[in-house]
Amino acid sequence: MEQWQKILKKSLTTVEEISERFNIPIEELKGLDKVFDIKINPYYLSLIKEKGDPIYKQVIPDLAELQQDKLFSDPLCEEKDSPVPSIVHRYPDRCLFLVSHDCASYCRFCTRKRKVGDPTKISLKFIDQGIKYIASHPEIRDVIISGGDPLLLSDKQIESILSRLRKIKHLEILRIGTRVPCYLPQRITSRLVKMLKKYHPLYMNVHFNHPDELTPIAVKALGRLADAGIPLGDQTVLLKGVNDDPVVMKKLMQKLLAARVKPYYIYQTDMVYGTEHFRTSVEKGLEIIKSIRGWTSGMAVPQFVIDAPGGGGKIPLLPEYLQEINENEVVLKNYEGKIFHYRQPTVK
Ligand SMILES: *Cc1c(COP(=O)(O)O)cnc(C)c1O
Ligand code: SF4
Repeated sequence: MEQWQKILKKSLTTVEEISERFNIPIEELKGLDKVFDIKINPYYLSLIKEKGDPIYKQVIPDLAELQQDKLFSDPLCEEKDSPVPSIVHRYPDRCLFLVSHDCASYCRFCTRKRKVGDPTKISLKFIDQGIKYIASHPEIRDVIISGGDPLLLSDKQIESILSRLRKIKHLEILRIGTRVPCYLPQRITSRLVKMLKKYHPLYMNVHFNHPDELTPIAVKALGRLADAGIPLGDQTVLLKGVNDDPVVMKKLMQKLLAARVKPYYIYQTDMVYGTEHFRTSVEKGLEIIKSIRGWTSGMAVPQFVIDAPGGGGKIPLLPEYLQEINENEVVLKNYEGKIFHYRQPTVK
């Protein structure tokens, strides 16, 4: 067994273990493992400094998850765009390919909690159908390998998927969506990376939500991936009590950039059941973008998006930089709030 597998084996997975570890009365945890499986591996657990901190909140179940919240099991309506169990095909030229039901810890706010942790919903037995679907759809030029977390599979299983996808001529790029560099950086072994780099152009989108997650070992894992020529992007979920603060978010984006990760998206929390206590106003996201854009490297500024409920895809939101536009001029507001005028061309 590899070191990372040994670490995973020691994960907390029951309400009893959580109760004991954090000295929480068991009644306050009752039923929370039914809302969504519990799993926190010892590495990520070690990043918790105190009960209720931003690391704790992401993975330790909370009674608030049982609130009646009028939220949904499939907020993005992925099922309606799922022609076979392992594929979500929503956009014209790219699709998601769900290959692993498992993750290195479980996020309490997971948008796909209806499937994640459930081997009957995401399974290697659906891989063949997925590959067949992609192979028979020449419009697909980009596949996002996701789950769950693809990097929870063995090197061999991952390589089998990548090599079969690479045989499909119309596929230009492959992407892996993973939270492993954050949750379990020990998984990013030199052997894994050596294998991954055979399948370029391969991109990776990682998932960090707080600057404290960028530990020396996580930064080292990211460096190893970057050294293998894998362009790294980050997707962050805006979460109350975790990162709904411009200072925290700016620091996170700067630290990611220093670790050679380009911030890609900040998501408004999806409307998934059991997450009302994590949701912020949309204005909060706009305020965060406003506090980053112009004030630090443009490279550190992600797009703030709402993944539209009902399955409309990701829709970008921007603070009001564009104040007015007509055939003569554009009125613009800069990062400091000053107004500028740009004249339109006179020759039409
Ligand atoms: C997010 C997502 C993608 C990828 O979108 P990009 O904006 O290209 O990163 C593709 N398909 C689905 C269903 C998605 O949710
Ligand atoms: S790592 Fe991703 S798929 Fe896994 S629980 Fe977290 S959000 Fe869900």
